Amino acid sequence: MSIKVLEMTTSQLRRAVEATGQPAFRADQIADWVYAKSVTDPSEMTNLPGKLAGQLEILTSSIAQKQLSSDGTIKLLLKLADSQHIETVLIPTDDRATACVSTQAGCGVGCKFCASGVGGLARNLTSGEILQQILHLQKAVDRRVTNVVFMGSGEPLANYDATVEATRAIIDPKRFGISARSVTISTVGLPAQIDRLAEEGLPITLAISLHAPFDALRAELIPFAAKTPLVEIIASANRFVQSRNRRVTLEYILLAGVNDTKFCAESLAKLSKQLHCNVNLIRFNPVGGLPFTSPSIEQVTQFAQWLKQSGVNAVIRKPRGLDIAGACGQLRNQARAL
Ligand code: SF4
Repeated sequence: MSIKVLEMTTSQLRRAVEATGQPAFRADQIADWVYAKSVTDPSEMTNLPGKLAGQLEILTSSIAQKQLSSDGTIKLLLKLADSQHIETVLIPTDDRATACVSTQAGCGVGCKFCASGVGGLARNLTSGEILQQILHLQKAVDRRVTNVVFMGSGEPLANYDATVEATRAIIDPKRFGISARSVTISTVGLPAQIDRLAEEGLPITLAISLHAPFDALRAELIPFAAKTPLVEIIASANRFVQSRNRRVTLEYILLAGVNDTKFCAESLAKLSKQLHCNVNLIRFNPVGGLPFTSPSIEQVTQFAQWLKQSGVNAVIRKPRGLDIAGACGQLRNQARAL
């Protein structure tokens, strides 16, 4: 029977190794190869007995396509064991290497401005499939990932257990060892799951993908959100803030003529005052075939200004990977069409 290394906690891996008749310290050797050295081919784990190495399963996905942006951003299209495709992205800066990971193949939320929503949800990823993305990215750039954002395709809290298991592995000092403060889980807003997440005691950052400051517009842009009024999402986000003593981030993609008006800025300012939060403004990255355009840089600056004048802590996020079909889901859709 194979040992699915990435699907296991440290103690589960020890038990699995012992069940093969090998001493528990072999589990530490395996963890050292995988998590400290990013070695994913068991035949390269030279200090392991060959029989044990032959039982290890680490990567079940392969790189189907790799794109490199002129700004250093790398996007990988990964093919999973059942031929589903997912995308994962590494955004490097001088002092950080941020992995943007997917939690589902496709997405059931169906945001009207997102390529991942086209075609709906295919399936949830396992925690191991989420973690494999980090290993692929680290190997691709020969650099350790320092930050992880759950902002790739999929709604992380709709795949709750795998997302939390992967998060525990990411922040476990004996596995990826990334600071919890460098991990962000982004959700469209599922109040019951936000409450559950608050109880997990994980000191990660929560981001709410808001994109509209009132329910009617949000229901148009995010059909899934029509089920959940903003007042409930804000209430659960407030409970998260109180339990973790951490700000939440509101993510707001600016779409020209849709949600970038002064009225929207005023509504967003009112909403954000109900919450201990920062607002991240993201200029829409055009997706072929979708009926939205990017606002001008001046309009984005103006929108940020309106928010700041109302006392909101708003930041314009620098766009990355614009020349590599940077919006999530575009590569996967090309692969689906083949
Ligand atoms: Fe799903 Fe995120 Fe795309 Fe919305 S923006 S459809 S939540 S992947």
